[in-house]
Amino acid sequence: MQLDPLVKPRSVAIVGATDRGGPGRAVMESLGAIGFTGPIYPVNPKYPTVLNVKCYPSLTDLPEAPDIVVFSIRNPLIPEQMRLALKRGARAAIIYDSGFAELGADGAKLQEQIAGMAREAGMPVCGPNCMGILNPPARVTTYKQNIMDPAAIVGNVGIISQSGSVCIGLLSDLRRFGVSLSVSAGNEAVTRTVDYLEYLIDDPNTKVIATFTETVREPERYVAALDRAADAGKPVVVIKVGRTERTQRAITSHTGGLAGSSRVFSELLRAHRAIEVNDLDEMTEVLAVCQGKRWPHGRGISVITGSGGLAELILDNATAAGFDLPPLSKEERAEAESVIGRITGDGNPFDAWGNGNYAVNLPHAMSVVDKSERIHSICYCSDTSNDPVIGHPGRVYENVEMLTKAAGTSSKPYYLLSTRSGVMNRKQVDAMRQAGLVVIGGTRQGLGALDRMGRYAVGLKPERRIGAPPQARLADEVKGGRRTMNEYDAKRLLSAYGIPITREQRVATLAEATAAAQTIGYPVVLKAASDAIAHKTELGVVAVNLKNDDELARAFARINERLDTLKPRPADASFLVQEFVAGGVEVFAGVSRDPDFGLSLAFGMGGVAIEITRDFALRMLPLRHGDAEAMISETRGAALLGAVRGGQAADAKSLAACLYALADFVAHNAERIEEIDLNPIKVLPEGRGCVVVDALIVARPDAA
Ligand code: ADP
Ligand code: MG
Repeated sequence: MQLDPLVKPRSVAIVGATDRGGPGRAVMESLGAIGFTGPIYPVNPKYPTVLNVKCYPSLTDLPEAPDIVVFSIRNPLIPEQMRLALKRGARAAIIYDSGFAELGADGAKLQEQIAGMAREAGMPVCGPNCMGILNPPARVTTYKQNIMDPAAIVGNVGIISQSGSVCIGLLSDLRRFGVSLSVSAGNEAVTRTVDYLEYLIDDPNTKVIATFTETVREPERYVAALDRAADAGKPVVVIKVGRTERTQRAITSHTGGLAGSSRVFSELLRAHRAIEVNDLDEMTEVLAVCQGKRWPHGRGISVITGSGGLAELILDNATAAGFDLPPLSKEERAEAESVIGRITGDGNPFDAWGNGNYAVNLPHAMSVVDKSERIHSICYCSDTSNDPVIGHPGRVYENVEMLTKAAGTSSKPYYLLSTRSGVMNRKQVDAMRQAGLVVIGGTRQGLGALDRMGRYAVGLKPERRIGAPPQARLADEVKGGRRTMNEYDAKRLLSAYGIPITREQRVATLAEATAAAQTIGYPVVLKAASDAIAHKTELGVVAVNLKNDDELARAFARINERLDTLKPRPADASFLVQEFVAGGVEVFAGVSRDPDFGLSLAFGMGGVAIEITRDFALRMLPLRHGDAEAMISETRGAALLGAVRGGQAADAKSLAACLYALADFVAHNAERIEEIDLNPIKVLPEGRGCVVVDALIVARPDAA
């Protein structure tokens, strides 16, 4: 669909315009204020003029087909007016009113009636339940708020929000950036976030895109748009709330439920190089950083202050948030101290007060960190505000001068950091902007923006190359509607892809079990194996650490009895005799399918606690280079794999190899996988590898 008539219409008809107020009048006034030069057609049978502009009794009376029709009327009237708009050849429409799909079945029906007409005619529609569209560079607006100062709005940020209030929020503070297009998309009955996103990626006025999204429609197209934006070097900054459109499906594996959260969406954003933020503060800081002449090329941040207290505060916050504040090297410290005097701490944050001669010390501190390869952005922390009533007024400009000078001989971006987000001095902001520099705010939000932009610049590791598939294929195993696959069969399949599994034998009788145990060697584990039993412990059909024939016989009888109590006893039930893996750290790996975004891999420490602690790492599949190692180290429980309490460190290397092998299995069988649960994997001491002791595969039906 062509969006031009919607986002930059050359003529505007306003149905329901009156002198008395409402969105229609606001839009007419704003069109005047913004300098719109095309024709404006108020439509209202009650008046000969609106705001002294000739008013038409009906859309059918207009002298030309308007680019856009703006409906400033209540929702029951809209279907008929939409019909007339299409009849008159209108090319786009805006519906402000609410009371549609967001209110339930009746509203949804009305919305679909209108949307159906528009779609059939190929007409883009913004809304319903929206604020409209503001296009400052094109000097046109259908945004239903009054515009006071159009010049102050123009800039390079494209906003797409499913919430009108978020548009209001972002537009309420335009001190550090302006807008190339602001879309309040509302219920998106016809035209959707992804349509606007695609438009903005190609829009030369737009340098960065800010989105507020409750529902992702057309996930595949959305993901492709994110990739295209990243390739175009346009950051897409995303606040996501709520869940995706499709409802949660039933989940068989225990760990499968973990990925059913918004975590998958966060991972998806990371995998497609969008920048996720949690709130408007964080978003505003990222948008501000994008206004700088230079962007950070990496994550290393140097913070320079004249205060030991602030240095500590920033260090605490930055450490907790995982920002990269590399300390000064020995040589850098020596060079710094030769001028500044003694420096406390590790030099990042860099308290450059020293001997108190800050006019010399601060620039020297900057020159030292500027040369460091590990530093990609440099902040000077100094607080001020609009109309300061206390302090040294000249300092505001001295700081700008100092930063301008430092940046002038550097290839790195420099920032003035205010410790509070949103508190800044307007004149200072403007002076900084003149020099291509940016004021950021908030020890978490402002520095967080540098970290996010640094990550964005670093990009992603390449995807792993996946070898040729082994003979074993999941598709062959799950013919005929087989859904869950028992541990034994699942392990055979997985081991063909290089996943280490326990030594084990499947048997039917006690005599066979005893013979198997003697071959494997005591102690052993005895379990029931059946496609009908996804979780064995709950049913009492697992017996571990059996030391001799006697113990095995008793366990066999017990499990056999338990199977008999199942109604009916599963026809495929057999027994599994398996080596007992003593010691090691229990971890899990789980694959699950999000109905919108596909397969992801979760990894965490084993045991039931995972569902409470939710301490797990997640990645979208396929994995990229380094993903498995990163997943292992980023869980809080990773410490358990290291040497604790005099124990030996676990074999993390073989664990990473196991995760990659699992990813390979998924890559070769993706279309038939719903869930996989390797729980637990036992990680043995270094050099002894890891072994999957339990596995469950849930197949995806054929037709899917
Ligand atoms: P479930 O179907 O209930 O998940 P498992 O096969 O995972 O059954 O067994 C339950 C628990 O028993 C495991 O979490 C693990 O702690 C222990 N276990 C199972 N098999 C072995 C084994 N071969 N060696 C050591 N411990 C085992
Ligand atoms: Mg298990």
